[in-house]
Amino acid sequence: MNRKKINRSASHSPLTAPETRMSERLRLVPAGSVSDPVWLVQEKMSGCLLATLSRQNHQSPAGFVCVQRHDPWAHSDALAEAIELFDATPPMQHQTQKQIPEATLSQEKARRLWTDLGLEPATVKAPLVPESCRLQPGGSDCFGRPFFLHPLALTAWNRMQQAAAADGVSLSVASAFRSFAYQAGLIQRKRCAGQQLSDILCVNAVPGTSEHHSGMALDLHCPDEPGAPAPLDEAFEHTRAFAWLSAHGGEYGFSLSYPRDNPHGMIYEPWHWCYQGKG
Ligand SMILES: [Zn+2]
Repeated sequence: MNRKKINRSASHSPLTAPETRMSERLRLVPAGSVSDPVWLVQEKMSGCLLATLSRQNHQSPAGFVCVQRHDPWAHSDALAEAIELFDATPPMQHQTQKQIPEATLSQEKARRLWTDLGLEPATVKAPLVPESCRLQPGGSDCFGRPFFLHPLALTAWNRMQQAAAADGVSLSVASAFRSFAYQAGLIQRKRCAGQQLSDILCVNAVPGTSEHHSGMALDLHCPDEPGAPAPLDEAFEHTRAFAWLSAHGGEYGFSLSYPRDNPHGMIYEPWHWCYQGKG
């Protein structure tokens, strides 16, 4: 590990934003509550969420440990680096969630990713969506991967999933928060598999413009429903899950973002629901 890269003086300054206390390659994203803070370790370049850190002993000011490793391929030296940074910082009891920005928006980062994909910035018409800085682990998605949402969306999702289950309808998550870099990686992988960029962008939003960056959007699936289609298949509209969501999603603040012939130029996505707040 190259320890010289860690900016130790920054790690001792009062925390005003997660960026101020991390190394060149890692960022800490606050999660949990003020009384029980946990921090997600995110790799800046890839947007991958590597692990969740927490205090070893909540009465003690120091002693952070990795409580969950989200990415089995995360380099242990990256985690050691994050834990070391935490242990080197003063207690954070004085800190409130209000001091942490809700979200960050980097036009420069988006443009860099567009250039890498061969996308002319002038052709990107959709507005940029800030990347949420407030993310909470929501459990596992239908592929067994950990997923993350903004705390408001997570609370609403948990309530909605329970209500659906009470009506005998099973809902699960296929995709939730995605960073700019993760979205770019999705598109890059499809290009490497031979797909045309213009075709991909009818299905995947341009990095920086996806509702998934906000931590408010969910792609839903119903693997327990007999005859359920594969995740992200238009046939989802014929499921009981979709019928239930259409009838009750609004009661929990969720709405369908991409109906047929939507003005965003996106394909019909019956599985994509976004939390808009309680009406
Ligand atoms: Zn989606």
